[in-house]
Amino acid sequence: MPPLMHGTVPLTARLEPWMERLVGDPVLCQELIEEHGSPLNLHDFSPMSRNIAELRDAAAAHEVDFQIYLARKANKTLGAIDQAIAEGCGIDVASFNELDQCLKRGVPGDRLIVTAAVKSLALLRLAVDHGVVLSLDNVDEALDLQEIAAETGKRVSIALRLASSNKSIAPTRFGMRAEQWLSFLEETDLSETLEVSGIHFHLNGYSAEQRAIVLRESLELIDALRERSHKPEFVDIGGGIPMSYLDDAQQWTDFWQALAELPEGDESLTWKSDRLGATGATPSGAVYPYHQKLIRGEWLGKVLESTADGEEQTVATMLKERGVQLRCEPGRSLLDGCGLTLAEVAFTKTRSDGLPLVGLHMNRTQCRSTSADYLLDPILIHSQRSRGERKESSAFLVGAYCIEEELILRRHFEFPGGVTKGDLVAFPNTGGYLMHIIESASHQLPLANNLRRGGQRWVRDDIDSMILS
Ligand SMILES: *Cc1c(COP(=O)(O)O)cnc(C)c1O
Repeated sequence: MPPLMHGTVPLTARLEPWMERLVGDPVLCQELIEEHGSPLNLHDFSPMSRNIAELRDAAAAHEVDFQIYLARKANKTLGAIDQAIAEGCGIDVASFNELDQCLKRGVPGDRLIVTAAVKSLALLRLAVDHGVVLSLDNVDEALDLQEIAAETGKRVSIALRLASSNKSIAPTRFGMRAEQWLSFLEETDLSETLEVSGIHFHLNGYSAEQRAIVLRESLELIDALRERSHKPEFVDIGGGIPMSYLDDAQQWTDFWQALAELPEGDESLTWKSDRLGATGATPSGAVYPYHQKLIRGEWLGKVLESTADGEEQTVATMLKERGVQLRCEPGRSLLDGCGLTLAEVAFTKTRSDGLPLVGLHMNRTQCRSTSADYLLDPILIHSQRSRGERKESSAFLVGAYCIEEELILRRHFEFPGGVTKGDLVAFPNTGGYLMHIIESASHQLPLANNLRRGGQRWVRDDIDSMILS
C-alpha cells in the first residue's frame, strides 16, 4: 500500500515491527491519544538489545574488554535505564537529577559515570557518596571534588576528560590537554583524595578515524600516568556512534540533490525554500546524517582495526597489551528503534496566501533535536472518528507555539488520500534526542506523556510523575 503521507521527495523511515503493528492499529492509537493526550511518546526498548549486541560482538571479535554506558541525556524515560541495566550496561549521567533518578531506580554506583559539563557541589557530593566515577573537565572542578573527598575521607575515582592536541581534531571546550592534566597532577597531591581510573573524551561528529586518533592519544596518556604510578584502567570514547534512520541511501542523496536544484521561493520541498544549511548538493552539517554507511558494530570494528600512519599495531592490540578496558557512551545509536511520537491533527486550513496547512496538537520542540530539522516522513493514520471529507492535498505541518515559524517539520508533505481533523500523525524513531532534548512547556502547554510497552499493555513511564528538585 502506498503511504498516506510522504515528503515531496520521500525520506522513508525504517520501522521496527512494534512500530508497524502500532501504526497499523488506528483504534489503539486513538485510544492512547484520548487517554494520554497529544503528542504522546511511545517506547518499546527491546531493539536496544540488538543495538548493544552489535557493539559487543565487534569488541569481542577483537577480544577487547568492553563496556557500554547509555547516554541518558538522549532519552529521559526510566524505562531506558531499566533496559540498559538489564542488558548489563551502565548509564552516563549529565546532571544531579539524572544521577539521583538512576540511584533511586536501583542502579549500582559502579555502573554509572558522571560526565556533566558543569558539576554542582550537590552533584559531586552525591557521586562521592555512592562511589560513582566522575569525568573531570577542569581544575576548578577537580579542586572542588578534592575538598569533598577530603571531608568524607573517601578516595574518589576520576576519569580525566582529554582534549585532543591533534591538529586534525577541532578545538574543544571540553576537558584539558594531556600536558595540562600531567602538570596538574604533578603540582597537586591527590594521593589521599582522588584516584585516576581512566581517560574520557567525547567528540563532535561521527568519524571513526578521529575516534582512533584520540584513542591512541588516550593510551599515550595512560602510559605517562602509569610511569607516574597512577593506575588508569579504561578509555571511554564517549558517544557519537553512528546509526541510520533510512534504509535507502539513494533517497538521502536525491533529497539533497533536489533541494540544491530548488528555485528560490519555491516551497514544494521546504518552507520558504529553506536549504537547511546546505550550500550545494552535499548533505548539510546542520542536520543529522540520516543515512550512514558504517554504523554501530561495523563502525566500532573500523576504530579497533585502525593503525597509525606507518605503524602495524591496531588500536585493539594497543588496548589489549596494556590491559585497558574500552568504554563508550552511545545515546542515539542505542535508542535506535526504541521510540515513536504520535500526534493528533487539530485542523486543516490555508495560509493567507492559500498555501495549505495541517495543524497538530503539538509544538515543534516535541520532535526536534538541536539540528535544523527531523528528516523522515511521518506516517499518517486515518482515523475512523475524524470528521470532514478527505481530498488529495499537500501541506506543511504547523504547531501550537504562537510564531509564524512554528513548523513541526520544515519539509512539505503530500497526502494522496487526504487528511482531516482527528487523523493521527506518527513520527518514527524519535527515541534518541528527537522527543526530549529540547522539549519545552511554553504557553504552559504540558510536556508530552511517555508510555512504554509492558508486556501486551502500554504503561506510563515513571519519569512523568517525578518532580524535579
Ligand atoms: C551527548 C554525549 C554522549 C552521547 O552521544 P550520542 O551521539 O548520542 O551517542 C555521550 N557522552 C557525552 C559526554 C556526551 O556529551
